This record gives sequence, structure tokens and C-alpha cells, in this order.
Amino acid sequence: MPGSFTRMDPRPDHGERSWRGSGRLKGHVALITGGDSGIGRAVAIAYAREGAHVAISYLDESEDAKDTESMILECGQQCLLLPGDISDPEHCRAIVAAVVEEFGRVDILVNNAAHQQLFNEIDEISDVEWQRTFAINIHAMFYLSKAAAKHMKDGGSIINTASINSDQPNPGLLAYATTKGAVQNFTAGLAQMLAGDGVRVNCVAPGPVWTPLIPGSFAAEKVSEFGASYPMGRPAQPVELASAYVMLAEPMSSYVSGATIAVTGGKPMI
Ligand code: NAD
Repeated sequence: MPGSFTRMDPRPDHGERSWRGSGRLKGHVALITGGDSGIGRAVAIAYAREGAHVAISYLDESEDAKDTESMILECGQQCLLLPGDISDPEHCRAIVAAVVEEFGRVDILVNNAAHQQLFNEIDEISDVEWQRTFAINIHAMFYLSKAAAKHMKDGGSIINTASINSDQPNPGLLAYATTKGAVQNFTAGLAQMLAGDGVRVNCVAPGPVWTPLIPGSFAAEKVSEFGASYPMGRPAQPVELASAYVMLAEPMSSYVSGATIAVTGGKPMI
């Protein structure tokens, strides 16, 4: 963990062949954590095709990141690759500074990176594992949002990736699900705090999505039935999440803030 989409079978669909842009984010600059693979890669491709320059942060999956970079450059947009560990507050501040240095601005922050591991008993969860899950999934969101909000002008947008686990915790993902509850709560609070500055804050809550996180954290028999219990009877492809992130980022959504958009294939959040 984190895994690589290049080794997944079947290969996920990030919209490489399907997303058609229409200038919805023309001239914007976006920073996407976890932008190399999975949902973050689909968002990076959609944002670039909609006219944004894109910076992507990821832990160390350089092959995935290089591939995503080439998709962004193909659209005629610029791409900045930012490897490193966002559990380090200094790294979070440094990557926001690097984006501002490179592009002179940051309009959109997508806090999307996360860590999860499955444990069936509380005794199996070490203190280190608990703290690392919080450091990556929620503390980094605070450091990055604080650093980016300073540079966001009226019209800025922060989009956080929550989960169906925000409201319906899987007990096997105790640490992860607890952080996802916090992500949704953080979003609702920060939206109120930044509303006066013209910065909108929202979250997307995915249901099951076919990304490296899944084979990386679940046993093979769980992977084979992943998403089957949802009303649509299947997991989403990453591209099916991208439209929510584009909608939340675009200027036409100027009154949407503090919201959770559920992309759960028909399963109610509560
Ligand atoms: P993914 O494996 O493609 O993405 C996870 C990303 O997090 C990777 O890009 C990885 O580099 C990054 N990351 C992990 N630890 C990091 C660290 N210490 N420093 C920097 N980056 C780090 O998986 P994904 O499913 O696309 O995950 C994206 C988001 O979607 C996550 O927030 C996840 O919780 C959420 N989500 C996924 C599902 C699903 O079924 N896949 C469901 C609900 C929510």
C-alpha cells in the first residue's frame, strides 16, 4: 500500500477515452492529493480536459504519477508532480508553496489521499496504525486546507473525499471510518468558516470504487464480491466519480458549500 493501477486486472476506467471537456475550469489551478491513481487520477484527467493546470501529490507511486502526468500534458495543460508523505505537516505546507511558486495561484484543493487497512479485532490495531490513519486522512486535510486557503481568492474551492463509511462505518475499517466521519464534519465546519472569504468547501462520499486501495487492503475473496451488495450490484469505475468533483469545483456551483455529494450507486448514506 498504496497500490498501483497498472497492476490491476481489470484495469480501472479513469475516463482516459471518455471524458470530453468543455472549458468548465478554464484557467484554474488545482492541487489533488492522491492524484496519481484511482479517483484522484480520474479527477486529474477531467480537470485537465476542462482547462485546469493540475498538481498531483502522491506517496511514491512514480509509475502511476508519470502516466497521469502524460494524460494531463496531452490536454495542453501543465502538470506538477509532488511525491512525498502528507502525514508530515511540513510536506503539506511545502507542496502548497510549490504550487503557488509554479503557477502563481491555487484555486482548487482536492483532499483525496487516504490510507486504510482491514482489522477484525480492536487488539489488532496498533497505536502506530491508528495514528498514521488519522495523520494521512484528516490531519493532512487540516494542514493543506489551512495553507491553501491563504492563497485562494474569492471563488476558491476545497473538495474533500469522504466515504459511505462517514455515515455507515464498516467495523473492519474502524480507524479509517472514524477519520471519514471527521472528514464530513470538518467539511461542514470549514465551509461556514471560509464562506465570508468566498471559498467553498464540500465533500464527495463515494461508495465502492475499483481502485488500488481495494486489492491493497482487502483479501481476494472480498475483492471478488466488492460492490455486489450495492443496489447497482457493482463497484463504480473511478471516472464515475469525476463529474461530482468537476461540478463542485466549477464557478457555476457558487452557492454549493458545506455539502456532501453521495456517489454510492443507489445506496442511501444513512
Ligand atoms: P488510491 O489507492 O488510488 O488512492 C489513494 C492515494 O492516497 C494514493 O494516490 C496514494 O499515493 C495516496 N496516499 C496514501 N498515503 C499517502 C501518504 N502518506 N502521503 C501522500 N499520499 C498518500 O485509492 P482511491 O480509492 O482512489 O482513494 C481515493 C479516496 O477515495 C480516498 O480518500 C478513499 O478513502 C476514498 N474512497 C475510496 C473508496 C473505494 O472504494 N475505492 C470508497 C470510498 C472512499
